Amino acid sequence: MTSMTDANPSRLLLVLGDQLSLDSPVLRDCDPDRDLVWMCEAADEATHVPSHKARTVLFLSAMRHFREALRARGLPVHYRALDQHEDTGLDQALADDLARLRPAEVVLAEPGEHRVRTLLTHACRAAGIEPHIISDDHFLCSTDDFQRWAKGRKTLLMEHFYRFMRKRNAVLIDADGQPAGGAWNFDKANRRPFGRQGPGMLPAPVGFPPDAITREVMGLVERRFPDAPGRLDAFDWPVTVEQAEAALADFIAHRLAAFGPFQDAMWKGEPWLYHARLSAAMNLKLIDPRRVIDAAVAAWERGHAPIASVEGFVRQVLGWREYVRGVYWREGPGYLGRNALEARQPLPDLYWTGETDMTCLRTVVGQVLDFGYAHHIQRLMVTGLFALLLGVEPRQVHQWYLAMFVDAVEWVEAPNTLGMSQFADGGLLASKPYAASGAYIQRMSNYCRGCRYNPKEAVGADACPFTTLYWNFLDRHRARFADHPRTALMWRNLDRIDADRLAEIRGQADQLRAQLS
Ligand code: FAD
Ligand code: SF4
Repeated sequence: MTSMTDANPSRLLLVLGDQLSLDSPVLRDCDPDRDLVWMCEAADEATHVPSHKARTVLFLSAMRHFREALRARGLPVHYRALDQHEDTGLDQALADDLARLRPAEVVLAEPGEHRVRTLLTHACRAAGIEPHIISDDHFLCSTDDFQRWAKGRKTLLMEHFYRFMRKRNAVLIDADGQPAGGAWNFDKANRRPFGRQGPGMLPAPVGFPPDAITREVMGLVERRFPDAPGRLDAFDWPVTVEQAEAALADFIAHRLAAFGPFQDAMWKGEPWLYHARLSAAMNLKLIDPRRVIDAAVAAWERGHAPIASVEGFVRQVLGWREYVRGVYWREGPGYLGRNALEARQPLPDLYWTGETDMTCLRTVVGQVLDFGYAHHIQRLMVTGLFALLLGVEPRQVHQWYLAMFVDAVEWVEAPNTLGMSQFADGGLLASKPYAASGAYIQRMSNYCRGCRYNPKEAVGADACPFTTLYWNFLDRHRARFADHPRTALMWRNLDRIDADRLAEIRGQADQLRAQLS
């Protein structure tokens, strides 16, 4: 233990690994003479689902840096380091310390997971203390606000929520109340592929080579979790508030302007393209989303970035990020068990190893193993799409996403995976499944060039597994989606395939499923 006070604190202020903000409401009125900040590195948090080594290093290193920042401000911290206490879960660690420290009160901000909220609440109640859980004002929309917004609505369309948030926060809204640039949505200008010549020279994003604290944590993680997935050689994520600020400045200066047009494009050997690389820093609360939104809007006001890129970016942070959190807390823990498409296939091993002759999956999974990162379309339209088409059990897909990404925290990961990507919630979040054939990947990337499969073929030795499984997906779910207004074109295309061919596709899809089981 690195810091300890024997005096019974009047309040134990819990700071979890994804709550590393000096502006946290928990710390706001901290009295250093009477209160004690409590932080804990629990092995369970890195093992209850496997955790990519880079994800564990990021959390532990950022926590240790934050501990130093708190102490520099004169706040007393009781810090349980992974290598200095018995292997106990977060709840047992808290129970032990409640028994020893006997605080009058326990205060924490809303955790990012149902599981953690339950564990900590039970530990407190067992010690006879009702924890005081306060709303986390890192977010622009509180869970109560989201409930109020959602109440009585037939559908929870993100677009409606996003416009509500734009107006409520006066972001990109003109004096007359209309959207800046004359439209709410600039999708027509966005979502372009690079074309054959590729993205050309890209600005390398600023990285943060491991300092002494991070190096120590890297050694610890290699020793304690040698079998965890992922590699650490390229670790350069921001682990402090200052580094998160530098990462934001770098994105605004060098990548924001081209973010919109190329946000859906993919290219071999180019993991970052024009993306922000800010999700992990935001999810750990090292940087406030308001700072991020304001910086993007200011870049547009200065004429440094076009409205299409800035609106596209604001939509992700003010819209999607807040929206999925609202959905997560509104739907409750039962959301994690949803399986609307009754998918039962096991997750193929290639998700953990990257070993496959499908170039797109090999590239994206390899990148995830290297960095703990893939951008949105790689997650949605490569790894997510393949699992959807194959019919993998959604919970296994959810566990993989929670394990493998440095920015993975359940409130944001689960709705994206179960709702948007796997349609496991039956259309609460996405109005129709994100199903596509290999042709989509061919259009948006250079992965298919040189791949041993042909994205145009659905049967035969060269058939692209995505394309085979796409037609088979439509065939399997025709009854479920036939009346869906936005899928008419898909069914017209399916109707052009004769019965013999469909049977051949079915046979090839069954073979693929058997091979990948
Ligand atoms: P950019 O592409 O530059 O986007 C800017 C910011 O917008 C991101 O930093 C992020 O904070 C926010 N954002 C963008 N899209 C979303 C979204 N759909 N939901 C919420 N916020 C969004 N994001 C996570 O932060 N953690 C996750 O665990 C996570 N799991 C995902 C799982 C699946 C299956 C899918 C399809 C998406 C997931 N996302 C997740 C959303 C998104 O892919 C990442 O936020 C984004 O790729 C992070 O990279 P970036 O910072 O470079 O983002
Ligand atoms: Fe992926 Fe199919 Fe393209 Fe190969 S041909 S890269 S498997 S989409």
